[in-house]
Amino acid sequence: MLELKHIVKRYDYQKVLDDINIVFPECGIVSIIGPSGCGKSTLLNIIGGIDDDFQGELLMNDKSVKTHLADYRRKHVSFIFQQFHLIMWLSVKENVALPQFFHPQEKQQILLDLDDLQRAKMKDLSLGQRQRLAYLRSRYHLSDILLCDEPTGSLDSDHSEQVMQLLKEESKHRLVILVSHDKELVEKYSDEIYEMKDGCIISHQLIHMPMKHMDKAKTTSKIHFSHLRLSLSSLLSHKSRSFQLVFGLCVSMLCIVFTLTLSTNLEQELINYVYSLVPAASISFQTSSHESLTIDIIDQLSDYSSIVKAEMYLDDYEFLGISFTGERYQESNTLFIGDDTSPYDDIQLEVGNYPNQNYEILVSLSTAKYLCQDNDLKDLIGKKVYGWYQHELKVEAIEYKIVGITNQSTTLDTIYTMNHAYIYLLSDVYDFDIDNVSASLGIIYVNKDSDRSKVVEQLENDYPSFQFKEVGSSTAQNISDTMNQVRIILLIFSFLAILSSLFLIGEVMFLNIVQKKKDLAIMKCFGASTFDIMRIVLYESLEIVLLAQVFSTILYLNCISLLNNIVSEVLLNDSFTFQADFRILIIVYALAYVLIFISQIPPLLYVLRLNTVNALKD
Ligand code: ADP
Ligand code: MG
Repeated sequence: MLELKHIVKRYDYQKVLDDINIVFPECGIVSIIGPSGCGKSTLLNIIGGIDDDFQGELLMNDKSVKTHLADYRRKHVSFIFQQFHLIMWLSVKENVALPQFFHPQEKQQILLDLDDLQRAKMKDLSLGQRQRLAYLRSRYHLSDILLCDEPTGSLDSDHSEQVMQLLKEESKHRLVILVSHDKELVEKYSDEIYEMKDGCIISHQLIHMPMKHMDKAKTTSKIHFSHLRLSLSSLLSHKSRSFQLVFGLCVSMLCIVFTLTLSTNLEQELINYVYSLVPAASISFQTSSHESLTIDIIDQLSDYSSIVKAEMYLDDYEFLGISFTGERYQESNTLFIGDDTSPYDDIQLEVGNYPNQNYEILVSLSTAKYLCQDNDLKDLIGKKVYGWYQHELKVEAIEYKIVGITNQSTTLDTIYTMNHAYIYLLSDVYDFDIDNVSASLGIIYVNKDSDRSKVVEQLENDYPSFQFKEVGSSTAQNISDTMNQVRIILLIFSFLAILSSLFLIGEVMFLNIVQKKKDLAIMKCFGASTFDIMRIVLYESLEIVLLAQVFSTILYLNCISLLNNIVSEVLLNDSFTFQADFRILIIVYALAYVLIFISQIPPLLYVLRLNTVNALKD
């Protein structure tokens, strides 16, 4: 079955193995003896498939296995090492079952006698117990070949005898290849002995030809999430370091998420404020040829189904505000009105009726509250107010009557009038002809359900001699632009933070692996392929990111609500609340995964290049 053909191994031009040819039997103990440094361990590593740097052929059932050593190891080979090579950060049970993690298709039915060790901690085990564990682990994987490099090297003679008894028992079912310098013990138990000197075989002694006994039946069962379990154990084996990584990553992710959330929220708040100052959904327009607008045109515009109201501003008449006294204009008694053109069709009334006459007006709730001071709102209904208009140097009043109060508060003080009401009323006071006015600026209120830019497009088509503009949109655009600039700068800083913490993770994971390289090599001896090891390493870093994300999500949501509490208490402003933005979370978290993959390249390359034989020597 197992055969070595012309095996040559060099270390820096020094021949350590020179043309080794051995045909092994199917079972029994085959021992390799020789003085220290003659190449026994080197040969065993080649047989075990953990050293691929040799010349010659390693044949299993007449097929070369050199190109698929991981597979060969997993299917055929098991080890017992002189230094036991147990993994201290795994539990006793996991150590014993290590081969099972990497070839989950077979599991022994026979229960290994672990009872007294089951609950012990790895670091508390005595030498004898470790020896037993190493033996049990090799037993757990029913391989065809069991390789033992000086298995009695660290034991006293009583223990050595025990181990040899066990190996003798093993050798009934499989081939045991034993490297030892204890000639007496070897001669007592071996079926075949090869003696080596200076990398060559100098003698071969055949003592028995043992018959192979069939081994006990195997049943199938699977260890679920084996890579995940190993990576979690690894993560927990350096808790404080893992915690620091999680903390660092959590902070930097929070930085970036908060930067984005706060700036987005602030931008929205500013834009909302801009739209509260200017009538929302409105379009301003003017003639390009400096001709005046006319009431006819305004009425034509009002007929569009997408337009609620259109109004024009008389050029030389300035609205100064309203007051309760009509004798004489007094600035101190006059309430400045910020908006006197908004439509009221969709607005419900708190009290009173809608206007029927040009002189009848509505006031907004906030304006009404200001006007009536502490009195009942109803007292305002029917009251006369004077609207003051300045034309050239003359200030004259229009007599209005409040007939209703809307149920809406407005940022600016607002009155609502019928279409062109003020123009008709002014024409009486100042005595001008309404068909012959000069008005270069107008305003259009768009229906809630219509798209403002589409309406502008249509109007531009229908009235090519006018210019139409969405009110407030350029200010909102300016705010967006400025906020974007601020955001980019903040993002660069946050991105650097997240990048540096990810590099930190890459670095720490790299150190972890360098520290654990021997454990990884042990895993390889028990069936792990390089790909298995890479998966374990990658999973560990993904677990760190995942943990950091869980913590930062919790912190994020809590901080947002804390912030909102502070805002509402300090600013006494309930209308401004920060909203948690899950889109931002998802984007940032996805980005973190992309970056973690990049940061894992050095550790993964290290795993790829890991020399199992050298790693085991450490
Ligand atoms: P043994 O197990 O018989 O004591 P080894 O197989 O460990 O001997 O080593 C055989 C020879 O190879 C020794 O001379 C040793 O110095 C040399 N050797 C082993 N490993 C290395 C290495 N990584 N680099 C260079 N020389 C090595
Ligand atoms: Mg050796």
